[in-house]
Amino acid sequence: MNQFYMPTKVYQETDAVKNHSEEMAGFGKKALIVTGGQSSKKNGALKDVTDGLDKQGTTYVIYDRVPENPGIACVMEAASLGKKEGTDFVIGVGGGSPMDAAKAISLMIRNRDSSEEVLYQNVSLQALPVVEVPTTCGTGSEVTPYAILTRDDLQTKSSIAHHIFPVLALVDGKYLEQAPLSVLTNTAIDALGHVLESYFHSKATDYSRMLCQYAMEVWGTAADVLFGMEAKEGDYDRLMFASSLAGMAISHTSTGIPHALSYYLTYHKGIPHGKAVGVFLPGYLAALPDSFEPQVIMALQALGFGSLEQFAGVIKELLGEVKLSNTEYQEMVDEMMKNDRKLKNTPFEVTKEDIYKITEICK
Ligand code: NAP
Ligand code: ZN
Repeated sequence: MNQFYMPTKVYQETDAVKNHSEEMAGFGKKALIVTGGQSSKKNGALKDVTDGLDKQGTTYVIYDRVPENPGIACVMEAASLGKKEGTDFVIGVGGGSPMDAAKAISLMIRNRDSSEEVLYQNVSLQALPVVEVPTTCGTGSEVTPYAILTRDDLQTKSSIAHHIFPVLALVDGKYLEQAPLSVLTNTAIDALGHVLESYFHSKATDYSRMLCQYAMEVWGTAADVLFGMEAKEGDYDRLMFASSLAGMAISHTSTGIPHALSYYLTYHKGIPHGKAVGVFLPGYLAALPDSFEPQVIMALQALGFGSLEQFAGVIKELLGEVKLSNTEYQEMVDEMMKNDRKLKNTPFEVTKEDIYKITEICK
């Protein structure tokens, strides 16, 4: 079956926030801006948003305490501020952490008398409108319905039960210009993970593959920046664009085994999301049955790699190594084998041997 559903309105251009401030401000009288501690103040994204709201006469309150890999505590704190201030909509500004938090916060404000358990309950609930302004080129959260939170109770990370598509995404590559290479690399590799996991996915459709194929091409034309080369004109825009395309693809398929494994590395070893995903990508491609070989070659070529060996070498060069103790390694593999939902996302019957192959880099 081929199905396509992408309800988020996207503007991708230089000065997207400024140019579309009327639409951004049009979701109510008062906004809750949700952002991280520092970066959105330095890269200009927060000022663009507050200037835009000021211009339209829309009031706002700012919650700027979203940490990396946010948990439920930050969501509840921000929701409480939003409820107290009577905010009508939420604007997430930053990387995936504040953008995901914004979605969960919008749900908790709209359902003001509910407790945090509702985040993980399969009940049908509405959320306040969410606008997203991404400042990293990885998660695609500006166009996905997912909000991934850290679960200390389960010692991992997982998506909340509710699917909340942003109503509006304002995407501008200029916010990447001053980003440290580590942030660019980690997040661009996350987008690469979305593309490859979505392309080689049991739920892939012609539409999702089309998004992946174009994302691969776009990503490949801008990837030089990740190797410390000076950015060509449009490179930052292309990295952002590839990230949004990849987000649209995973909105249809979800992610696969590398993402499922990554949550162990992030939760237990503090490894940033993109790196935690990226280290498993060569192994994932290697574990695909031989019948996928033509598609693997096509994907690698579109991304600008000559072979799987070269791809594996580049990933190692960009991300370095991640080593686990024997006990940690076995725990990660065992957890993966119990994760039926993610195992089913793979377009072949996965065995424990396959998981050993995918995770060999951590031994
Ligand atoms: P992030 O956790 O949002 O941010 C990482 C770091 O980068 C933070 O220190 C942040 O600073 C900084 N930063 C952000 N933008 C910057 C910029 N333009 N220049 C310089 N520094 C900048 O990183 P992320 O990789 O974008 O998001 C990861 C989260 O998204 C994870 O929780 C992951 O599970 C989730 N995720 C969600 C989806 C989805 O579909 N919703 C998909 C994949 C991953 P500040 O803290 O100061 O802002
Ligand atoms: Zn990801």
